Amino acid sequence: MRRVGVMGGTFDPVHHGHLVAASEAAHRCNLDEVLFVPAGQPWQKSDRVVTAAEDRYLMTVIATTDDPRFSVSRVDIDRPGPTYTVDTLRDLTSYYAAAGIEASLFFITGADALAEIASWYESADLLALAHFIAVTRPGHVLVDPGFSAESVTFIEIPALDVSSTDCRARVAEGAPIRYLVPEGVREYIAKRNLYVRAES
Ligand code: ATP
Ligand code: MG
Repeated sequence: MRRVGVMGGTFDPVHHGHLVAASEAAHRCNLDEVLFVPAGQPWQKSDRVVTAAEDRYLMTVIATTDDPRFSVSRVDIDRPGPTYTVDTLRDLTSYYAAAGIEASLFFITGADALAEIASWYESADLLALAHFIAVTRPGHVLVDPGFSAESVTFIEIPALDVSSTDCRARVAEGAPIRYLVPEGVREYIAKRNLYVRAES
């Protein structure tokens, strides 16, 4: 049985907080791999313009190239319409079944995302599709969603107080993002001129 971590996110841009969360979840929960899954059209963020999916996808690929445990899935960006986690998990389940690989999915989320679980579409189905790994995130209280112990594992990870919102704001005001994001991601942002206009 392959233990597959699923790290969903907008990754606008991907930063070291995401990478540490995935790495620690893999280590602590004995995951064979972690799939980063950039969201297509994130319905939670309809209040702001989200960077083109291809740019977010490429930044995620750049950020994960050197870690053999990490790869990036296009399932959410190739599916039309808003991204729902239940669809992500269904599509990945079908993908592994079609490939003849027995896989169990572990959905990795930060404290803030976990807090939204109750509001997620078909949350009962979510629990049937994956085990949840909830990681600490600075500035967010890790609340027990009331899931049974078999459904969620809470892990404490080295705290990196970095967010994509902060990275975007920094670029917009000319502050450095070096060391907050992988170097290749920083270069990609500069080359493509992303985030130069302030949009939180
Ligand atoms: P934004 O500020 O645009 O919301 P973000 O930094 O929260 O971006 P997302 O793409 O929304 O990044 O997050 C994807 C996942 O990564 C979520 O589960 C989130 O909780 C988690 N995450 C983000 N930043 C951190 C961090 N610094 N430490 C731990 N987990 C994090
Ligand atoms: Mg977020």
